[in-house]
Amino acid sequence: MKNFNAQQNLWGIDLGGTKIEGVILRSAQDPEVLFRHRVPTGADQGYAHMLEQLAQLVQHMEDAAGYRAAKVGIGTPGTTIPKTGLMKNCNTTVLNGKPLRADLVQRLGMQVALANDATCFALAETRLGVVKQQFPEAKVVFGIILGTGVGGGLVVNGHVIEGFHGIAGEWGHNYLSEAEGAPCFCGKTGCNESILAGPALERYYAAQSGQALSLKEIVGRAASGDDAVATQTVHRLTSFFGLALSAVINVLDPDVIVIGGGVGNIDLLYQEGVANVSKYVFDHQFEAPVVKPLLGDSAGVFGAAYLVA
Ligand SMILES: [Zn+2]
Repeated sequence: MKNFNAQQNLWGIDLGGTKIEGVILRSAQDPEVLFRHRVPTGADQGYAHMLEQLAQLVQHMEDAAGYRAAKVGIGTPGTTIPKTGLMKNCNTTVLNGKPLRADLVQRLGMQVALANDATCFALAETRLGVVKQQFPEAKVVFGIILGTGVGGGLVVNGHVIEGFHGIAGEWGHNYLSEAEGAPCFCGKTGCNESILAGPALERYYAAQSGQALSLKEIVGRAASGDDAVATQTVHRLTSFFGLALSAVINVLDPDVIVIGGGVGNIDLLYQEGVANVSKYVFDHQFEAPVVKPLLGDSAGVFGAAYLVA
């Protein structure tokens, strides 16, 4: 028998590009999954349809729990502009310019806490994942998504830092190198994302070798050591990773850095990449742990739930 409890349960939703996932956790202290359900996002059918999908998911959650929560945490692509409540920088582009939070409050009849998906990742790994389990004393956590894009989220003393503009932690759009980078969707050229993200690595490899390979194939070839361009692609990544991360360390000096996303699986980042941070960081001493996450694909929806903890 599932003991749902309106006072203790945490409701979280991960609004992704293809699916929307909802979860009900028993409590912040005991995050057992009591209910989990997914619906298609249907972004190609427009914003109003997406709101309906969200409403339908929440109805499923209510049917399972026997009550409708007073508040729900939702992880989204992009950012909510604090002053206007409008969405921006979303790769699910129908969201851009929309007052998502206000629309959901009205449609769902609940309080709604929104945060970027990288922020939810950082919060989940802090409260439940690798930080809680291996570095419970950590105060400042920087969670990085290094995948098809480059994002980041900041958690201080267990709580999300949103920032004045809602972009705290968005190191993916720090300037890195115009010569080595490419035009970015954000309007600049040479952002971290245009050099460190998976598609950027694939683009670099293809330009150097004349061969289009997936990131996985490139990393495999680099590991086996018989493809000089693949090896060069990974060394270039670790070098720019060191340069890019050192800028964050000099400002924030986090206690732990957690790296999620497909590029985050590259083992050399944690050796050569970390050594390269030391090369660029102030006084050349960088000893903070840089680690892989523990929660896998569930981090987003768990982090969303903890937004209302
Ligand atoms: Zn950018």
